[in-house]
Amino acid sequence: MSNSDSSFDCIFCKIVKGKLPCFKVYEDKSFLAFLNVNPVNKGHVLIIPKKHYETILDMPNDALSQIILIVKKITKAILRIFNIDSCNIDINLGKEAGQIVPHVHIHIIPRFSSDEFKEWPTKQIPEEEMQEIANKIKNSL
Ligand code: AMP
Ligand code: ZN
Repeated sequence: MSNSDSSFDCIFCKIVKGKLPCFKVYEDKSFLAFLNVNPVNKGHVLIIPKKHYETILDMPNDALSQIILIVKKITKAILRIFNIDSCNIDINLGKEAGQIVPHVHIHIIPRFSSDEFKEWPTKQIPEEEMQEIANKIKNSL
């Protein structure tokens, strides 16, 4: 691997290669899941493909289909062990969306009734603009 390889300095690639430690919760041939070292809540898990892709848009569809099944499996376990009903399943795609690590990862964040933090703020968008945006998205799929 050369220094120009985008995975060279990637912190998650280093975890995959065993060069950095992690609190592993799941591993198979293609995917790894471990605890977030700076959790939003206890039990905050990250699921990653072992192969370096920057975002889900770069992942082949079959890998993308597989990762969501692992998310489902781990989410069920998290809800069970904490005896809770809720969690946030989140992908931050791109810098402005809060993606810090440029290696695909899906967050599972357990949510408790005692959580003090709020949900995302909302905006009022005029009806014509809503229609225009919906049309634009629909027409560019
Ligand atoms: P994001 O903002 O979606 O890119 O999230 C990246 C997450 O990776 C952050 O929540 C970090 O706390 C987490 N993180 C960074 N380095 C490590 C690491 N070595 N082990 C576990 N989680 C990490
Ligand atoms: Zn990587």
